[in-house]
Amino acid sequence: MLYKAFLIKYAEIGLKGKNRWVFENALRDQIQFNLDRLGGFTVSREQGRIFVECPDGYDYEEAVAALQRVFGVSAICPVCVIDDRDWENVKVKVGDYVEAVYGTREFTFKVEAKRADKQYPVESPEICAGMGEYLLNRFSNMKVDVRNPQERITVEIRNKAYVYSEILPGPGGMPVGTGGKAMLLLSGGIDSPVAGYLAAKRGVTVEAVYFHAPPYTSERAKQKVVDLAKIISAYTGPMKLYVVNFTDPQLFIYEKCPHEQLTIIMRRYMMRIAEAFAKKDGCMALVTGESIGQVASQTLHSLYSTNAVCEMPVIRPVITFDKQEIVTIAQKINTYETSILPFEDCCTIFVAKHPVTKPILSIIERSEEKLGEEMEQLIETAIKTAEVITIEQ
Ligand code: ATP
Ligand code: MG
Repeated sequence: MLYKAFLIKYAEIGLKGKNRWVFENALRDQIQFNLDRLGGFTVSREQGRIFVECPDGYDYEEAVAALQRVFGVSAICPVCVIDDRDWENVKVKVGDYVEAVYGTREFTFKVEAKRADKQYPVESPEICAGMGEYLLNRFSNMKVDVRNPQERITVEIRNKAYVYSEILPGPGGMPVGTGGKAMLLLSGGIDSPVAGYLAAKRGVTVEAVYFHAPPYTSERAKQKVVDLAKIISAYTGPMKLYVVNFTDPQLFIYEKCPHEQLTIIMRRYMMRIAEAFAKKDGCMALVTGESIGQVASQTLHSLYSTNAVCEMPVIRPVITFDKQEIVTIAQKINTYETSILPFEDCCTIFVAKHPVTKPILSIIERSEEKLGEEMEQLIETAIKTAEVITIEQ
C-alpha cells in the first residue's frame, strides 16, 4: 500500500479563537471513533491539522469511506510516509510516489515544502527547488507551473518525511457533538432520516423518537425505523431511539375528534411527547422531516397549528426542499432503499379521506379540550412505557 497515513483538512471552524480546540478535539474524537471499527488507526491533532496513521494491511477504500462520513472533514489527503528522511532518499521516494500516482499523464506541478523540523539540513526553498529539478529530470510528462499548477506536491519534513498531492472530498459540516443535542422525530419515510442526517451535519448530536401503533403497525415497520437509525448512525454516531406505543392515544383521538382533524391533533401529541423526552435528555430542539406543502399536514397552516404546542425550536432541515432533492440526499446516504419498503406507518392508518389543509388553531384546541384528563393519562403512560433502544453500527 502506497499510503500509510491521511492528512485531514477542515475548513469551517464556527467557533474560532479560544474555542477552536473544542472543535478540533471533537473532530479528532469523531475520526478516531469512526476508524476504531476498522481497528489499529492512530489519530492525532498537531499544529492545526489532524493526522491519521494507518495499520499495516488496512483496507484503503474502507478507511476513506469511514473518513468521508465524519462531519467537519473538508478534505482527505492520502499520505505516503518515507521512513528514512535522508534528502537523497526522499527525492527518490517522492519520485516513486509521483510515478505510482500519475504514471505517464502529462501535467503541470509545483512542489511545496513544509519543514516542521527546523534542524533538517535542507531548507524549504531548497526542498522545493531540488525536488522540482529531480522530478523534471526523471519524468518528461511533468512541467513546472508555480502560479497555477494542476497538482501541488507537498513534501513535509518531520521525524519522518511525508509526501501528498491528492485531495479527496470530505462531507463538510461540523463535528457531531459541537452543536448541542436535538430530538429527531424519525418515521419510516424518506424525509426524516435525511433531516436527521442534515442536523447532524451541523454538529448536532441526534436522539430519535418513533411512534408506532401495534397491531395497526407491524413489527417490520418498527424494524425498518431501527434499520434507518442504524444507517444514519454511521454519520451521527451511536443514537438513542425511543419507541413509543401510540395506539391508545390514537384510538382515543379517533373516537373523540372530528376525523378531518385527526392528523393535526395526532402530530401535536407526537410533538408534545417528543418534547418531553427532549427535555429529560437535555436536548435543545426537535427535528422533523417536514417540507412545506408535501401533504395536508405540512401546509403552512398545518405547520402553524403543530408548532403551537412546542416550546423548543423545531428544526426542519428539508422544509424548502422538493421531494426529488430529498430523495437525492437519501440515495447518497443510503437510506432511500430502506425508506421505500412498503410498511404502513401510524400516520397512514388513521388518516381521514379529506384532512383539513387549513386548520384553524382555535378549533383544533377546542377539539383537544374534549380529550381531557383521560388523554393526559394515556400520554403519560405512553411516555412511561416507551422502549429505549441503543442504535450502534
Ligand atoms: P417522512 O418521510 O419523514 O415519514 P412524510 O412525508 O411521511 O415524512 P409525515 O408523515 O407528514 O411526512 O410526517 C412529517 C414528519 O413528522 C416526519 O418527517 C417525521 O419527522 C414526523 N413523523 C411522522 N410520523 C412519525 C412517526 N410515526 N414517528 C416519528 N415521527 C414521525
Ligand atoms: Mg411519514
